[in-house]
Amino acid sequence: MIDLSLTDAQLALQKKVCAFADEHILPVAAANDAHHHVDEKIIAGMAREGWLGCTIPPTYGGLGLDYVSLAIIAEEIERGDAAFRTLLSVHLGLNSMALLKFGTEAQKQKFLKPQAQGQTLAAFCLTEPDAGSDVAAMTSTAARQPDGSYRLSGHKRWIGYATMAGHLLVFAKTDPRAGHRGISAFVLERGMAGLTTRDIPHKLGLWASSTGEVFMENVPVPAENRIGAEGHGFKIAMHALDNGRFTVAAGALGTIRACLEHSVAYARQRKTFGQEIGRHQFVQDMIAKMVLNLETSRLLVLQAAWLKNQGRRDTREVSLAKWHATESAFSAANDALQIHGNKGFSHDESPIGRYFRNARAPIIYEGTTQIHKMMQAEHALGYRALNGPPEMVS
Ligand SMILES: Cc1cc2nc3c(=O)[nH]c(=O)nc-3n(C[C@H](O)[C@H](O)[C@H](O)COP(=O)(O)OP(=O)(O)OC[C@H]3O[C@@H](n4cnc5c(N)ncnc54)[C@H](O)[C@@H]3O)c2cc1C
Repeated sequence: MIDLSLTDAQLALQKKVCAFADEHILPVAAANDAHHHVDEKIIAGMAREGWLGCTIPPTYGGLGLDYVSLAIIAEEIERGDAAFRTLLSVHLGLNSMALLKFGTEAQKQKFLKPQAQGQTLAAFCLTEPDAGSDVAAMTSTAARQPDGSYRLSGHKRWIGYATMAGHLLVFAKTDPRAGHRGISAFVLERGMAGLTTRDIPHKLGLWASSTGEVFMENVPVPAENRIGAEGHGFKIAMHALDNGRFTVAAGALGTIRACLEHSVAYARQRKTFGQEIGRHQFVQDMIAKMVLNLETSRLLVLQAAWLKNQGRRDTREVSLAKWHATESAFSAANDALQIHGNKGFSHDESPIGRYFRNARAPIIYEGTTQIHKMMQAEHALGYRALNGPPEMVS
């Protein structure tokens, strides 16, 4: 039985992150966005609170919190600005949580601990110019050397916080003929010879975040930096996505909530034809849709959190939550923009345009909406079992 009530500790956390967003993120969000400024003071604040390692056990420098708490943090941070929830997704959901599951004790001490403490930022490098949804199409290679080390070559693109990360979890082929079974995972450390990064300019949104490229030219990587066995990279990436997508879905609740709150406030204040626009049924239709989508998205996120808290694999439930919540967030932002009329179209008169632009990316990353629809349909049709056989429970 899923109990939806929050514990006292979760309620206190919610209050704290909510206050952090109100005091530190929202007052500077418009300026950070307009100046394409990655605000490292906000990142340092999140690190100080331990949120960048909130679900990592204290032994490895984290807070050891549960997944409902992670969802709370993601939602409140995205209500401020999705740029910082994006960091939580790549640093913690996609990278650190994968190290926790698949890293050796030595790797956890060396890489995970500083990440959980927020001393080193971490990125997740799967996508390439010619390989997005089709992960197995990647052409990055990891050539094994006679001494057991590797040489990595290739180009990763559209990587969150690539230029700021000290540790990059990179996927490359150790056996280019073996399709997805030939992919392996490595931690690359900033400063390694032949490793360079650069930011991608002129993005549609997420202007206060960093999104970049990773270039690897014969980068020497010691065997100790390989995560899991050779050929296990695809499995590691898919597991990582189950956690990353969870944070994306939870974050989307923050966008829906912000759009709903702004829309309600504006609809009760703006008058046309002698009454508040909130009295017009077409406006009520948009508000009602936001309410329904917020509630249904939250239920899907909490269902996934409940499964995760029990250590159960939840690929199917996370996919549903991510698909529905991110589409709902974009729809809420679009409707909020409509409700605000010309003020919604202005950077100076409302924050809605920022939510609208930022809500577009999550429909593309961590599995496009089409990929999630395909996953759900194939599962329903019996062509694949998204949560795997029972012995594969994560
Ligand atoms: C802001 C941003 C941040 C990102 N951050 C990261 C990151 O940190 N790390 C990382 O590794 N990647 C990251 N990505 C990359 C992202 O994960 C990919 O863009 C995504 O997986 C889709 O790949 P693609 O863009 O190459 O599109 P493609 O895979 O080329 O797809 C193009 C279109 O075809 C559709 N399509 C593809 N295959 C099918 C199919 N089988 N059935 C139906 N439709 C299909 C897609 O839905 C899409 O509409 C980021 C992207 C963005 C925009």
